[in-house]
Amino acid sequence: MLTIYQNAVIPHPSTGWGCKAAIDDYICNQFWSLHQTKRRITFTDKKGIGELKLLGKWDIHTYPLKSIKRVRIVKRADGFYVQFCLDIEVSLEARIGDGEIGLDVGLEHFYSDSNGHHEPNPRFLRKTEKSIKHAQRLIYRKEKGKNQRRIARARYSRKHLKVSRQRNEHSKRLGRYVCKANALVAYENLNVKGLVKNHCLAKSINDVGWTLFRQWLEYFAIKFGTVVVAVPPQYTSQKCSSCGVTVKKSLSVRTHVCKCGCVLQRDHNASINILNIGKQATGGHPESNATGLATSTLFGETLIEQVARMNVESPSSRYS
Ligand SMILES: [Zn+2]
Repeated sequence: MLTIYQNAVIPHPSTGWGCKAAIDDYICNQFWSLHQTKRRITFTDKKGIGELKLLGKWDIHTYPLKSIKRVRIVKRADGFYVQFCLDIEVSLEARIGDGEIGLDVGLEHFYSDSNGHHEPNPRFLRKTEKSIKHAQRLIYRKEKGKNQRRIARARYSRKHLKVSRQRNEHSKRLGRYVCKANALVAYENLNVKGLVKNHCLAKSINDVGWTLFRQWLEYFAIKFGTVVVAVPPQYTSQKCSSCGVTVKKSLSVRTHVCKCGCVLQRDHNASINILNIGKQATGGHPESNATGLATSTLFGETLIEQVARMNVESPSSRYS
């Protein structure tokens, strides 16, 4: 399995790099070597990069040199990083449970699962939006081409970087937890890209970060030997999870009430449907990893509903 590790770097004092500004994203396949302590890396392909010191405590020394397939330098708002792409056997970790779970993602909750749990949505961007906007205004107060403006811009970028890291950590933590506790995870196969095209909602949807969550789910599925299934999102909110009858609900109806006596919170009902579809899709072969089983790029009906509802119910929290 290809795994990427990232390490912050600074130029080595004696052989620093002369072309720092030119390197935003640079991939190197062959022309690099690690210092024997594995705390320094030297690039030898005449780009003038030279020797870089690896910062942090990350333990590249524990991996054989052979497993490093590619080295990449990336520029982030807070400095430069070297990414090592490693081809390593991922050791299976033991699961703590063999449950089956369906996840219904949304804007109101990050997800609602088939056990009735609602994971709150942290909305990292909204929390720091004021300070980000302030930082943005500061840029325009500084004169163009001046150093002060460059500093203000860097400060602004770092704030965005912080939000994206918070989002990533959050998705990773949840993805890990869900895969660790369950043998089967079914989630809605949302077309996030398609939804983001809707300009009014783009920020809210991007802020939730489902794509990241999905990627982490699939990553940890391999690590814990969990089966992860993406199911098409159609009708999951309208169908009764108990008897299968379609119960039409308007956007504001938060509770699913069916003639068969089934009364559930709306998203809870949807997540049970998702789990049921997921179970059908795996066809009783839980050992076959069905990642990416559903590859349809269908619009998330349930999500559009939720988005519409959010806008109806809480106009004050809308993005302008
Ligand atoms: Zn029913």
